[in-house]
Amino acid sequence: MNQAYHHASFMLGVAKLSQLPPDTGHEVAIAGRSNAGKSSAINVITGIRSLARISKTPGRTQQINFFCLDEHRRLVDLPGYGYARVPESIKQAWQHLVEKYLETRSSLRGIIIVMDVRHPLTNYDTHLLHWCYIARMPVHILLTKSDKLSRGAATAALHQVRLSLNREFTRQVPPAKSRGQSQDDSPVTVQLFSALKKTGIEEVHGKLDEWLNFG
Ligand code: GDP
Repeated sequence: MNQAYHHASFMLGVAKLSQLPPDTGHEVAIAGRSNAGKSSAINVITGIRSLARISKTPGRTQQINFFCLDEHRRLVDLPGYGYARVPESIKQAWQHLVEKYLETRSSLRGIIIVMDVRHPLTNYDTHLLHWCYIARMPVHILLTKSDKLSRGAATAALHQVRLSLNREFTRQVPPAKSRGQSQDDSPVTVQLFSALKKTGIEEVHGKLDEWLNFG
């Protein structure tokens, strides 16, 4: 296994666009509805418990948190969306921050969207997927908490999500812009994952290796 993920360390939390670190090298962002299991997934992907705690620290939950793997590669924890107890004005400010980050970041190679396997493709998820589709941003979906379902039910959920994505995102619209990835017609991939049982780690590492250009 690639040891780089175990070397992840907190770099900085960003609350304003002006604070973003230099836009060089390769970056993968991780997004998800709050409580979907994003922090636990980051924890298991890196094998470092304290990383998830950093992103959960009061004041940091609304920031974009950067973790560096090495000099040229970063994992980026985006604030969880759909968090009901946040005032509208704050929600809008952080939505603006995330949108601008997504729109302008040229080192961004792909987005991992974490979804609870029992409640995938919420309105928020679909909104982000649409944006990624138009921007031709590659997406990898982690259907997490798969331990909560039987193996058969989890596999059925996986197929159902793939089916919905195929239905929704068959390419009829030409891409608005290309970010230099291969011209693959289906840049959305999906897998089952469990932070509790630590399953699906190799598959997500494989995707990260590809996007982060680990040889
Ligand atoms: P976040 O808000 O998206 O960062 O979600 P967290 O990682 O904090 O997880 C939310 C809740 O789901 C916590 O109580 C976790 O213990 C639980 N959780 C996260 N991942 C899993 C998983 O793979 N399996 C199970 N059973 N529970 C999980």
